[in-house]
Amino acid sequence: MQTKILLTEQEMPRQWYNILPDLSGPLAPPLHPVTLKPMTPQDLSVLFPMALLEQEMSDKRWIDIPDEILDVYSLWRPSPLYRAHRLEKALGTPAKIYYKYEGVSPAGSHKTNTAVPQAYYNKKEGINRIATETGAGQWGSALSFACNLYGIELVVYMVKCSYEAKPYRKSMIETWGAKVYPSPTNKTNAGRSILKQDPNCPGSLGIAISEAVEDAATHDDTHYALGSVLNHVLLHQTIIGLEAKLQLKKAGDYPDVVIGCVGGGSNFGGIANPFAYDKINGKNVRLLAVEPAACPTITKGLYAYDYGDSTKLGPVVEMYTLGHDFVPPGIHAGGLRYHGMSPIISKCVKEGLMEAEAYTQKMCFESAILFAKSEGIICAPESSHAVNGAIKEALKAKEEGKEKTILFNLSGHGYFDMTSYDKYLSGQLEDYEYPAAEIKKALNKLPKV
Ligand SMILES: *Cc1c(COP(=O)(O)O)cnc(C)c1O
Repeated sequence: MQTKILLTEQEMPRQWYNILPDLSGPLAPPLHPVTLKPMTPQDLSVLFPMALLEQEMSDKRWIDIPDEILDVYSLWRPSPLYRAHRLEKALGTPAKIYYKYEGVSPAGSHKTNTAVPQAYYNKKEGINRIATETGAGQWGSALSFACNLYGIELVVYMVKCSYEAKPYRKSMIETWGAKVYPSPTNKTNAGRSILKQDPNCPGSLGIAISEAVEDAATHDDTHYALGSVLNHVLLHQTIIGLEAKLQLKKAGDYPDVVIGCVGGGSNFGGIANPFAYDKINGKNVRLLAVEPAACPTITKGLYAYDYGDSTKLGPVVEMYTLGHDFVPPGIHAGGLRYHGMSPIISKCVKEGLMEAEAYTQKMCFESAILFAKSEGIICAPESSHAVNGAIKEALKAKEEGKEKTILFNLSGHGYFDMTSYDKYLSGQLEDYEYPAAEIKKALNKLPKV
């Protein structure tokens, strides 16, 4: 009875998988936030290095991972694939449950998989300073770890309510050497204008993105980095799914359903896209994205062009969106509170290649605790959605008396996020579904293109 299915460092994939050439057609072009005309690589080169922009639009299916990046990846990759024997037993399910564990990375989540290549390509093009935002702090810590490796100065705009609720994430970011500010700050025009309207604004990812983009656009030596949503981010994350495929092959298995939680869609795309490749080529596999009912971007949002950030500085892209000035309620899965969704995942859901469900937070914590008690790992509040999705599928298999193979991505651990577990355990956690009327209001402000 094998529990961990491992790969050696030599077996680590040498290429990322780019899904773009396998989609039914090209993605709608990103538009300039002011002119609403397609953006050129020159427009975007203020923010990103050319190597990442090339990946963003590449029509090459397989993209080599530079040796220098593989070297760093080997600090925690290949990550383990677990067979959840004890969880299966606790559920009494005939289903086989596998999970890919990304919490083994230095920052404790999958985000280092893209933080390292982003820092690497920026350094290679001579960039010595990067500005970014972070929601719950995972991206800020992952990028701080990566920037330190390459001697890049990093400034992190951290959503204020998380900055206050998760002080140890801030300490992690600072340990690896970055500067971190609670957003909205008075350091940018975007931050100042929000503070003028609401001095107690708890912040949002959209606002923090605006601040970081403004910082990068107004400093010649500075680039911007995004931890999710963009095509190149999903590309880097595909190492998760590519490894999982090799591991399942070793176990002599193939999933009926692949599950991941979605904030901006990167860990889900990371595990699901390599399986989407099989599905496009005739395999029968379900690809299930799960999101919080409090931020139901795919299940309740609109598929439309929208701004990526609150103050309309960044590109306008076609995606599922709750509206760019959506300020999510203070739920605990801080990393799942973005108003938009990866254009790749959006298109795949729109065309029926992938599907989505939304869960309220109490059932997710309940699942997380069953998972911790049976498998030992205390998962991140974000990942608890994927755990809940897997448990739901396993219980359905039990009801139907069917064998089924379930694979989910355990995107990270919750060791710096115990306040949320405290709240759940002391009965203070409330369920919340974002009201349809609020969504309708926010969607009235989409750009007219
Ligand atoms: C950031 C984060 C997420 C959500 O982001 P995606 O880009 O959708 O993957 C999920 N889980 C963890 C642990 C995270 O840190």
